[in-house]
Amino acid sequence: MRTSAGEWGWAVLMLLAASTVAIGDEGPVARPDLVVLWSDPERRVPEAVKRELFRETAVLFASWGVTVRSSEGLDSEGLHDVRVVLLERSRLGNGGERVLGQTHATPLEFPAVWILVPNVREILERKGGVASPPVLARALARVAAHEIVHAVAAFGHAPSGLMRRGLGASDLTRPWIQVSNGFQRDLLDALRPRARQAILGRP
Ligand SMILES: [Zn+2]
Repeated sequence: MRTSAGEWGWAVLMLLAASTVAIGDEGPVARPDLVVLWSDPERRVPEAVKRELFRETAVLFASWGVTVRSSEGLDSEGLHDVRVVLLERSRLGNGGERVLGQTHATPLEFPAVWILVPNVREILERKGGVASPPVLARALARVAAHEIVHAVAAFGHAPSGLMRRGLGASDLTRPWIQVSNGFQRDLLDALRPRARQAILGRP
């Protein structure tokens, strides 16, 4: 009997662990959800890359205590927190610098970010070779995470790590990516419902 009671104890602990996240010495806080709508209007990103991109993005945010729910399409009738548009072009609008991704500077009713897929591919392939689907997916996930954090948490740039301006090939491909001190706490604070309403201007 003792053993089964112990097992139940573990099950309850594991359920709690899945729905809350502890930061440092502070008590557990609710694990926020982030609903991401991915749009691939030109349908040029291979399915294998997209599947892995959604998975990598979820793993990245899970490491900060945020549950990402991804779906793909052109519209979610406003049910998403942020839309990520995968574009098969190297420039947005009239020229400008070659960027990997872009976020609207002012919050939109429905926040959106753009990823310029050819520019991400070019950085990966600058030294020759062709980026494999998992490598391209990881790089796209990091660019997407950078832009999503700008869009939904209103974070600026950091001197290094994920939020560095101008991510390079090693930032995009190495097994881990660093974030600055306090990043996770600030992200969870920003994604709490009331803070999210203030940033995004909607419930
Ligand atoms: Zn940026």
